[in-house]
Amino acid sequence: MTSLRADVVVVGLGAFGSAALWRLAARGVDVVGIERQAIGHAFGSSHGTTRLFRVACMEHPGLTAIARTSLALWTELGERTGETYVRQTGSLNVGAPASRPVTGARRAAGARTTDLSHDELAERFPQYALADDDIAVWDPDAGICYAEPAVRAHVAEAQRLGATVYPHTMVTAIDVRPDGVTVRTPTTSITAEQVVVSTGAWLSKLVPGLPLSPRRTPLFWFQPKDPAAEAFQLRNFPSFIWEFADGRGLWGHGSDEDFLVKVGLDGAERDRDVDPDELDRYIHPRKDIAELSAAIAQHFPELDPEPVKVMPCMVTDSPDGQFLAGRYDERVVIAGGDSGHGFKHCAGLGELLAQITTKETPSTDVSFVDPHRF
Ligand SMILES: Cc1cc2nc3c(=O)[nH]c(=O)nc-3n(C[C@H](O)[C@H](O)[C@H](O)COP(=O)(O)OP(=O)(O)OC[C@H]3O[C@@H](n4cnc5c(N)ncnc54)[C@H](O)[C@@H]3O)c2cc1C
Repeated sequence: MTSLRADVVVVGLGAFGSAALWRLAARGVDVVGIERQAIGHAFGSSHGTTRLFRVACMEHPGLTAIARTSLALWTELGERTGETYVRQTGSLNVGAPASRPVTGARRAAGARTTDLSHDELAERFPQYALADDDIAVWDPDAGICYAEPAVRAHVAEAQRLGATVYPHTMVTAIDVRPDGVTVRTPTTSITAEQVVVSTGAWLSKLVPGLPLSPRRTPLFWFQPKDPAAEAFQLRNFPSFIWEFADGRGLWGHGSDEDFLVKVGLDGAERDRDVDPDELDRYIHPRKDIAELSAAIAQHFPELDPEPVKVMPCMVTDSPDGQFLAGRYDERVVIAGGDSGHGFKHCAGLGELLAQITTKETPSTDVSFVDPHRF
C-alpha cells in the first residue's frame, strides 16, 4: 500500500469534481483528483455531447450568478485552449403565462430577458405546435455547452496548473478524523487536510445518509422528417424548455455539424431510486421511447418522432431540485444532487467549491444549495 499526502483530494471527476479540481489548482492548492473511470467517460451523468446552457434559470433566481461565472471561466479557458465549451444561441422558455419556464425565467435575478407574445413566438418559431395560451421568455445569453470536452479540459487545465490525477482508480473508503482525512483506493492511501466528494449518482455511497435519489434518464437524438429542412438546425431551433398544461414538458436544441436534434421529456415518473452500480443500460423501445415519441409527434410535427440515437444516463435528484454543494463538515466538502440541471453551473460551482474549501468568502449566495438545508 502506497501512502501519499496532499492538501485536498477531489473524489469523482465528472462535471462538478473536474471543475473543483481545476479551480483549486488555479489557487495553487496541492490537490489530487481521483476518478474511477477514464476522464470524460460515458457511465455517469456528464456525457452525450451537449447540455442546455441557460442564464435565466427557472430552478432558482440565485443560479444566474453561477451560470454567468461558468460562462466567464469557460470563455477564458477556451481562449487559452482554442476550444469552445459554451455556444450562445439564446434560449426559449415556453409555456402558459403561469408555467414554470415563463415565471421562473422572469424572476431569475440579473438575467436580461425579453417576452415573446403567442403571435411573435408562432411567427419566429413555426416548428412549435403551440397551445393557445403558450408564450415565451427569450434568454439571449443562453445556448448550449459541450459536456465531455469541458470535463476533459477542466482536468487537463488542473494538471497543467500542478494537480495530480489518478483516472481508472476507485475510492473505496474515506476516513475522517479530527486532524485530517484519509482517502483509500485498493493500492494507495492519501492523507489530506480536506476532501471534496463529487461522485454524482454514487455520492451517497461515500457520504451515507444524504437525501439523494439517482434516476435513470436516457439521452435521445432525432432528425427532421425532411433531412434537408433547415428548421431544426441549431441556428433556427435554439435550446428550449417547454411546459405543457399537464405539467410534463420537453426540452432540447437543434442540430449542427457535430450533433443531431436533442429532445428529452420532463415529468416521466419512473426509474427513480436506482442503484448506479446496477443501472439498466439497455434501451427498451416501448418503455423508454413511446411517451417521448408521442409528445414529439404532437408538439413538433415536422420532427421524426423515432429517435436515431439513444444513450443511457443518470440524474441525481434532491428533495427540492437544487444541488447539495458546500461544506458538509470540517474536513468534507460535497457536490452532488444535480437534479438534472447542473452541467451549465459546473464551472461556476467549481469556483465556489474551491472558495469554500480554501475558506474564502463565497462570491455569491450559496445558502440555497447548502447540504445541511434539509
Ligand atoms: C438526460 C440528461 C439531460 C441533462 N440535461 C442538462 C442540461 O440540458 N443542462 C444542464 O445544465 N444539465 C443537464 N443535465 C445534468 C448534468 O448533466 C449533471 O448535472 C451533471 O453532469 C452532474 O455531474 P456530476 O459531477 O454530479 O456527476 P458525474 O459527471 O457522473 O460525476 C461523478 C463522477 O464520480 C465518479 N465516481 C463515482 N464513484 C467513484 C469512486 N468511488 N471513486 C472515484 N470516482 C468515482 C464517476 O465515475 C463520475 O465520473 C442533464 C442530465 C441528464 C442525465
